[in-house]
Amino acid sequence: MEIAPRIHRVDNVSGSNCVLLAGDEMAVVDTGIPGNGERIVDYVKSIGRSPSDVRGIILTHPPFDHSGSAAEVHALTGAEIIAHADEALPAAGGGLTLRQGTEGEHIPLWYRWIVGAPKRRAYAINFPTIPIHRTVVDGDVLPCFDGLHVMHTPGHTPGSICLLLNSPAVLFLGDSAINNRDRISRPLMWDRQKRRELDASLRRLREVEAEMASFGHGPLLEKQVMASLRALTDRPYDLPTWKIVMKNWRTLRRFHASVRRGVHFEGGRPAGGSA
Ligand SMILES: [Zn+2]
Repeated sequence: MEIAPRIHRVDNVSGSNCVLLAGDEMAVVDTGIPGNGERIVDYVKSIGRSPSDVRGIILTHPPFDHSGSAAEVHALTGAEIIAHADEALPAAGGGLTLRQGTEGEHIPLWYRWIVGAPKRRAYAINFPTIPIHRTVVDGDVLPCFDGLHVMHTPGHTPGSICLLLNSPAVLFLGDSAINNRDRISRPLMWDRQKRRELDASLRRLREVEAEMASFGHGPLLEKQVMASLRALTDRPYDLPTWKIVMKNWRTLRRFHASVRRGVHFEGGRPAGGSA
């Protein structure tokens, strides 16, 4: 689906949203969970482009719901996988590999019980190894359209990035904010210190002027974009974790169910009242 001129959201990608920037040099922003590679490349062909036109696979951050199909898309297109330097680890055979995103994270048992999250071991088994071919840092500009600007927005993960296009003025937020359709929220995070770090990043975004916002989860936001994002930091994100989970547990259950079934998750309350 073309969401703005030459900007496509690849239909039915499971896990996260996958956006295709169809300039002369094409780039993919996030890839969903493992198993979406063919679907992404079929979409490229469906708009009359060649898989080899895709030059970059840009990962906003590592957890498997965004990076899961990056190696598949790389194998099918030859595009380089790009992530922030703080998400890169030395690979055993040389080069760099993407952090899995769970390093140092301890998912509370009671959370697994409430939302039915897979055990840590199950997560580990499902993680494909993702090579990184190019790292970026804050201020870098990638060759896509008239320049895709990289902003380092740590918090959700140490190397989370937001991406900004000048024209059209689209801000790609990864999981630094989530569109639940009925409201914009911050991602669920266990560590209070990281929540404060995320808020510092979101406060930096207050300076941005974007007409559209594309999220890792949820639909494109086209109205009151910056007002909605600025409103996030108008209220502090300093609640205890259990309070945040209680507020969001229905959404969390639906997200985990969609990952288990391998279907697309649109976020928020289901449209039309159906589950
Ligand atoms: Zn995500």
